[in-house]
Amino acid sequence: MLEEFLTQQLAAVEGITLDYDTDFASLTTLRVGGKPQVLVRCSNPEAAVAATQLVDDASVPLVIVGGGSNLLVRDGAVDVVALLLEFGDINVDAGSGLVRAGAGAEWDRVVAASVDAGLGGIECLSGIPGSAGAVPVQNVGAYGAEISDVLTRVRLYDRRAHVDEWVPAADLDLDYRYSNLKFTHRALVLEIELQLSTDGLSKPLRFGQLTQQPGERRRVAEVREEVLRLRHGKGMVLDPQDHDTWSAGSFFTNPIVDPALAEAVCARVRTTHGDAVAETMPRHAVAKGEKLSAAWLIEKAGFPKGYPGQGRATLSTKHTLALSNRGEARAEDIVALARDIRDGVRAAFGVELVPEPVWLGLAL
Ligand SMILES: Cc1cc2nc3c(=O)[nH]c(=O)nc-3n(C[C@H](O)[C@H](O)[C@H](O)COP(=O)(O)OP(=O)(O)OC[C@H]3O[C@@H](n4cnc5c(N)ncnc54)[C@H](O)[C@@H]3O)c2cc1C
Repeated sequence: MLEEFLTQQLAAVEGITLDYDTDFASLTTLRVGGKPQVLVRCSNPEAAVAATQLVDDASVPLVIVGGGSNLLVRDGAVDVVALLLEFGDINVDAGSGLVRAGAGAEWDRVVAASVDAGLGGIECLSGIPGSAGAVPVQNVGAYGAEISDVLTRVRLYDRRAHVDEWVPAADLDLDYRYSNLKFTHRALVLEIELQLSTDGLSKPLRFGQLTQQPGERRRVAEVREEVLRLRHGKGMVLDPQDHDTWSAGSFFTNPIVDPALAEAVCARVRTTHGDAVAETMPRHAVAKGEKLSAAWLIEKAGFPKGYPGQGRATLSTKHTLALSNRGEARAEDIVALARDIRDGVRAAFGVELVPEPVWLGLAL
């Protein structure tokens, strides 16, 4: 139980509600996980900062929860205080293209409001679940776009320095599914600021399924519609009726490997699957080596879409990279499936898959 003194201090802060009933299964899109010691619901940034200070001063582990779409939490009692940021004003300036959103705003509402105002730059990020405050955490990306393309500043509360201030996006070390906020819990994102384009057109499109002419710019609303359609087809838009979406989206990041390893993987594919398949192996040169496709490797290692694992957690029937809860899964079922796949890909190709979600109280 949380110390009575801390509980009283938290309860006394204006804008805070203490919730002892909600478990992580209700807070996350994988829908697994037990109860935190308490869920602290914060209705404004000042309340979130005050709660963080109190919990940090008491040396109690704190976890910030947005939409829970990139979180895998253990079953049973979870020895943390969970902080839910429930403030989410969205301000869109159609003239300048400047957009600001509070951490608790649903990310897709930010995209929809920007697209409705004819602003371009985040239309390819339509349909990604979760909160605005979390988008910088792993530099969310999809269909050739990343939030780092348009993120100018974030309002951060730095938990070590005890400072609440706007910092430039450049201070976050944004990279492929990474920022220095991910896994570190060093700061709370309270607000984000984006600079979008105002000519009604999308960012130059690079992704083959969105354009036949790389570099083409299309009307933002058209691109949003197309992205949502594609994502629905892959089970990548949340739908409570569709168990394929009871997931954390892509469960593993695309591995970035040494070119020599990429060559060795290709040679193994040639041996096991033949020349024609080896020729289609996705490989992209990036600054740190070659980026391979985790989904492709998983499939070629013998895990097709819908791979049943032990039954309660399976691969999505629409996308090889999503591990999904078929309704009754426990956290350990998701972990067992993740291990099965990680080990299978390692055995087949010598490539180590790394999970994308943040894990709480569990390890692979
Ligand atoms: C169906 C589906 C499709 C997805 N598709 C994509 C995709 O295309 N591209 C992509 O990049 N991701 C995708 N994801 C992953 C996920 O939606 C994103 O990572 C999203 O940004 C997570 O937001 P969230 O609010 O749910 O974060 P949570 O899962 O609640 O939290 C994730 C991490 O961020 C931290 N965090 C959350 N809010 C804050 C804050 N305000 N300040 C500091 N830390 C914070 C948490 O403590 C935790 O460590 C998908 C997930 C699902 C379920």
